[in-house]
Amino acid sequence: MNILVLNCGSSSAKFAVLETTHGGELISGIAQRLGSPEASLDWKLSGTKGTRALPGADHAVALRAVVDLLRAHGLADALSGVGHRVVHGGARFSGSRELTAEVIAMVEECVPLGPLHNPANLTGIAIARELFPDLRQVGVFDTAFHQTMPPRAFLYPVPYAWYSDHQVRRYGFHGTSHRFVSQQAIAQLALDPADNALITAHLGNGCSCAAVRNGQSVDTTMGLTPLEGLVMGTRSGSIDPAIIGHMAKTLGASEAAILDALNKKSGLLGVSGLSNDMRTLEEAARGGHARAALAIEIFCFVLSKSIASLVVPLGRLDALVFTGGIGENSANVRARVIDQLGFLGLSIDPEANARHGREEGGRVSRETRPQAVVVPTNEELLIARDAAAIVAGSAAV
Ligand code: AMP
Repeated sequence: MNILVLNCGSSSAKFAVLETTHGGELISGIAQRLGSPEASLDWKLSGTKGTRALPGADHAVALRAVVDLLRAHGLADALSGVGHRVVHGGARFSGSRELTAEVIAMVEECVPLGPLHNPANLTGIAIARELFPDLRQVGVFDTAFHQTMPPRAFLYPVPYAWYSDHQVRRYGFHGTSHRFVSQQAIAQLALDPADNALITAHLGNGCSCAAVRNGQSVDTTMGLTPLEGLVMGTRSGSIDPAIIGHMAKTLGASEAAILDALNKKSGLLGVSGLSNDMRTLEEAARGGHARAALAIEIFCFVLSKSIASLVVPLGRLDALVFTGGIGENSANVRARVIDQLGFLGLSIDPEANARHGREEGGRVSRETRPQAVVVPTNEELLIARDAAAIVAGSAAV
């Protein structure tokens, strides 16, 4: 089955057409800088790249350009459905669902929980329904995989009414990636599907870890929003919440301005003062940039502490899985983390760590238990497969 996968952000729209039986990607691309004079559409088709300027384009213009592109290559008529990445599904969705009018209304109800992401996701859904009125549309939620967390993991120790009346709880994100790589790792390491304990570390521009017991998320580092947890490219991760009031008062700034700084000017960028990009920081650190080196050190220290804490809900650890741009590509970050987790029995295999990465996943630690492995993530494929299953007749996945 050919499925169009759409991932709409506030100023971008990523797309891909995947063939779900063999997992082949027929075309992929991104429309970015939407709403600006520099808006453009870039794509990759059969190994060749293409680009088209779309000055001033919004999401609707960009998605129409995507449809033109698919038509020009004979891909539009062969589509069986559309799969949408939806960031926040609140406690409403524990699996993927067909986007009927009733389900879309439920996604709209989740906007207050995901104000930075859900409106763009909903825009993409509305436009795709107009452009493909005959195709079924499926929502795949970043939060859904973590709905199996027990209350001890998802409740914050705050006044209970904040949860019961205002839905304040930990939801977790990157669920599609954690689900995909945990399934792959269980198969690749030939673990008992009914008795296994994994920690998956999705380390991209956003970063989160999940504790996955027998294929189900039992704890995760992100919370009500994707701001909690690990140090990220521009997000602080967990900090003392009193810093918000303290800095608002000290700087005479609004709470919104402080939250903006925690989301967009913190993390690797904030500490290094240089970049949110791990590649840039590793290069700068090698050249003697002290704060780039410090940012990487804090990133790896917080990550190692978080991984160790996630062994508690699991009770034991069979494998640590690295994925995402940093997890798949940075042998340096993996080596530092595994070294700091030596007390769990993890031990780096420098040769395997240098060899395995995005191109070829695999073991990066010595063969003793627990093992550390790289599993390249493929969120688009999982979204396409969920959509295909629903189009083929499942009520939900
Ligand atoms: P993602 O959001 O999954 O695309 O990941 C983006 C992050 O991956 C950025 O911090 C990149 O610098 C990082 N990254 C990509 N390639 C490499 C590499 N070869 N070495 C280190 N970090 C990398």
